[in-house]
Parts: sequence; structure tokens; C-alpha cells
Amino acid sequence: MRHLLSLVLLASVLAAPRASAAEDDPRWVFYTRDTTAYTSPWFAQAHRILIPFGCTPAPYYSPDSRCRDGRGFHHGIDIAMPCGTPLTAGRRFRVVDPSGLGPAYGARPLRLRNAARGWDLVVGHAQEVMVQPGDRVRKGTVFALAGDSGAPDGCHLHFEKRAVGGELSSARHPRRLLALTPSS
Ligand SMILES: [Zn+2]
Repeated sequence: MRHLLSLVLLASVLAAPRASAAEDDPRWVFYTRDTTAYTSPWFAQAHRILIPFGCTPAPYYSPDSRCRDGRGFHHGIDIAMPCGTPLTAGRRFRVVDPSGLGPAYGARPLRLRNAARGWDLVVGHAQEVMVQPGDRVRKGTVFALAGDSGAPDGCHLHFEKRAVGGELSSARHPRRLLALTPSS
């Protein structure tokens, strides 16, 4: 009986990595050497960075004067996660009108604002959105599901921190707002 129990435990340990590998998106290409999976108050489970903030060799961006060798500039952080992964409010925010963001963020772009803290957070590629402009959302609330809307490179979320009401040029590194923490 004891042997059977340890066999069952062993089987479940062996099965765990295989189960997560089965969820990997074949379209993902990781433009970073960082293989760490991060947790965040903004999404469920732990996930890897697909494209970091700043100059990138990823082919989806036009050459930028800030970057060498014709590289483009990525204004947010892309985090690879299976389609359907719940997004939770990592901070309180108000949902504002996302029009004017353009098609790169997918069919359901989100623009979240905390004017007191001085940020807008633009979220791209959601497959489902449970909030609408005007909503005030409390920390911890599930407000969208990850997707690949408008994304050529598989299921992920694009998180972009801007000044309140700011244009793309106001984008800053979202590392503190996302509070990414290496999972152990
Ligand atoms: Zn992105």
C-alpha cells in the first residue's frame, strides 16, 4: 500500500512539468535569455517574459533611433501565458476609453488609469474583457483573460505603462507597477 502511494506521488510529480509543457504555445519565440517564470499581482500563475521593454531584435517593430543595428523599440513587457489565463487588478484603477490606441493591441485593448499614482496601464491582446470604460476596479478583481488578439507571436499579454493620458512616447518601464517576482 505504501509503495502504491509513493508510486502515485511520483507519477504526479513527473506529470506536472509535462502538463505545463502541453500548454506551451508553438508560436512563442522568447527574445530574452531570461528563462525565469515570474508571478505578479496582475495575472494568475508564473510566466516567462517573451519580449522585454526597450530595444529588441524581435521583428515586429520598425527601426528606432534609440536602438543599434536597425532594432525596434518595445514600449512594454510581453509576458507569455496560455490563452484564457485570468488577469487580476494588481492595483486599483479606473477603466478609460481605449480608442486611439490603434490595432496593434488587438480587438479589445484596455487602458487602465490610476490618476492619484500617476499612471495609465495599456494592456494588449486580451481575448475577453469583463470591464468597460468608467468602471472602478478594486485590487484583486479579475478583469480580463489573456489572448492572442492582434498578436502574431502567440498568446501573451502586452503591459505598457504610460503617463496619465500620455502618448506612446510617454511609455516607461513597467517593472515596478507589474511587481514581477521570480517564482521558486
Ligand atoms: Zn508587446
